[in-house]
Amino acid sequence: MACAFLSLGSNLGDRLGHLSEAVRQLRERGVTPRRASSVYETAPVGRTEQPAFLNAVIEVETDLEPLALLAQTQAVENALGRRRVLRWGPRTLDIDILLYDDCRIDLPELQVPHPRMHERRFVLLPLVELQPDVVIPGIGPARACLDALDPQTQPARCLGAFPWP
Ligand code: AMP
Repeated sequence: MACAFLSLGSNLGDRLGHLSEAVRQLRERGVTPRRASSVYETAPVGRTEQPAFLNAVIEVETDLEPLALLAQTQAVENALGRRRVLRWGPRTLDIDILLYDDCRIDLPELQVPHPRMHERRFVLLPLVELQPDVVIPGIGPARACLDALDPQTQPARCLGAFPWP
């Protein structure tokens, strides 16, 4: 059984509902969520003229290999009606595989650890809340990456407990 950390984000429609529904659907697809961070509201990065995101990180257990896990997270994104119109544009639900055990994967369709996670406050804040001593393979402690980021340029507000279904 592998342990993975997934980042969830939504900035369209019923944002809290999408986070909750993602957990429910993952469970039906061989991915068992065990714990979740609080939910954070964060300003969009990249394209800034779009609604604010809700972000959280969940810890999951799964027998799926990494590429099979990616297929299931993408199926959940699609089931929630995500439209891939604009890169970094609004989305009902985005799921990124942050960490998969201690694996380092560099395939065209999957890079783990997620290559931009160490510079994203909206990922590191919930991840460190959930697992304070977590180490990003090849990078270092997530806590140190978080401390190196400027809270002013990537503001995030904790909204409270994850809407566990
Ligand atoms: P995005 O539209 O930003 O969610 O990017 C989706 C694309 O990123 C997909 O085509 C995936 O194959 C690719 N990808 C690469 N590494 C990862 C990862 N660790 N988690 C999720 N998607 C990934």
